[in-house]
Amino acid sequence: MRDTFLPFGLPDVGHEEAHEIRDAIISGWITNGPKTRRFESEFAAKVGAKHAIAVNSGTAALHLALEALGLEPNDEVITSPYTFAATAEVIRYFRAKPVFVDIQPDTLNLDPAAVEKAITHRTRALLPVHIGGLPVDLTVIQSLAQQHNLFVIEDAAHAFPAHYKGEPIGSISDMTCFSFYATKTLTTAEGGMICTQNSDWADRCRLMSLHGINRDTWDRYASPGSWYYEVVVPGFKYNMNDIAAAMGLVQLRKADAMWQRRCEIAQRYDDAFGEMAQFQIPTRHDHSRHARHLYILRLHLEQWQIDRDRFIDELQQLQIGTSVHFIPLHIHAFYRDRYGYTPDDFPVAYREFQRAVSLPIYSRMTDEDVTDVIDAVHYLAHKFQA
Ligand SMILES: *Cc1c(COP(=O)(O)O)cnc(C)c1O
Repeated sequence: MRDTFLPFGLPDVGHEEAHEIRDAIISGWITNGPKTRRFESEFAAKVGAKHAIAVNSGTAALHLALEALGLEPNDEVITSPYTFAATAEVIRYFRAKPVFVDIQPDTLNLDPAAVEKAITHRTRALLPVHIGGLPVDLTVIQSLAQQHNLFVIEDAAHAFPAHYKGEPIGSISDMTCFSFYATKTLTTAEGGMICTQNSDWADRCRLMSLHGINRDTWDRYASPGSWYYEVVVPGFKYNMNDIAAAMGLVQLRKADAMWQRRCEIAQRYDDAFGEMAQFQIPTRHDHSRHARHLYILRLHLEQWQIDRDRFIDELQQLQIGTSVHFIPLHIHAFYRDRYGYTPDDFPVAYREFQRAVSLPIYSRMTDEDVTDVIDAVHYLAHKFQA
C-alpha cells in the first residue's frame, strides 16, 4: 500500500506558468489585455476556430453562447442529465427549459434517438456534452439540427484536445464552449472559451462579456488617456484576465504532451481491467480522438459483493483518490422538484451513475502512481468478487 494519498486530480502547472504569470505582473497589465488576445488567437488556431472569446469560466462561455443565439423564455434546449450543474443552469438563466434526454449506455453521451423524440416546436438548440472527453456523434446531432432548424452548442468542458472524424472539437458546431477550471485538461485556474466560425455571434459574445461596452466605439476613441466608452446593452462581467491567460498560453504549449501522458495512463488501465468480468472500461472510437479528461470505470455490480460507494471507500483506505461523474441532474433537488422527475425518468443515466467511478488520470502521475491504482483496484476486485 502507498504511504501517501494519491489525489484524484492535480493541475500540471509549475515554473513555466509561474514565469509567464510573473511577466504579466511585472508588465503592469494584469487584466484583460495582450496576453488574453494572444491566448485567444493561439487557442483558435489550435482548435480550427475562426473566433475564440476568452471568459472567466466555462459556465460564462455557455451563458454567452446561448445569449448570442437569442434564447428566450420558454424556449427548450435539449441536453444530457449526465453532466455537471453548469450545463443546465445556464438554460435556466433565460427562464428557458432544459429538456433532458437519456444517454447511451456505452458512451455515456446523449442518445441521438432520444434527442429526436424530444424535439418540439419550442426547441431552439441542442446542447450535447462530450463526457470525459469522448466526442458525441456529431454527424447525427448536426443532421437532426439541420432537419429541425436548431442550433448546436457543444459543452466541450472535457473535450480539449479531442477530435471528431479528423476535425478538432471547437471547429464543428455553431458554438463550442470550453472550461479551463483547475481540474480540466488545460487550466487557467478559472476560465473558459467560446469558439465559433460566425463573426456576428463572436461579436455578440465579446460585447456581452464586458458590460455591453461597444468595442468599435472604444477603439475609435481609445487613444492613450481616453475616458470615453459607450454601453449599448446591459452585458455581463465575464472577461478573462491576463494572469489567467498567461497560464493558459503555457498550458497550450504543453497540451499535446499532457494529452499523450493521459493516453498512456488510459492504455495501462485498459490493459489492466479490460479483460476482467468485474469491469467495463471506457468506450472509445477509432474515428475520433478521446481527450482522456476522465477515466470512468464501471463496475459490473452483479460480480461484486460490495457496491460502488463501498468500492470508493475501500480505495480511499488504500490511499487512492477517486470521484464520481456524474450525479445525474434529474435527481438533484432543484430539477427533481421543479420538473417532478423521478430517477427512472432517465434510467440509463441513473443506472450508469450507480456503477461509475472515475480513476485518477492526470499528466503529473508517475508510472508508480498508475501501478498503485491498478494494484489497489485488482486487490479489491479479488477481495470482493461475488
Ligand atoms: C467544468 C464543467 C463546466 C463548467 O465549467 P466552469 O469553468 O467550472 O464554469 C461545464 N460543463 C461541464 C460538463 C463541466 O465539467
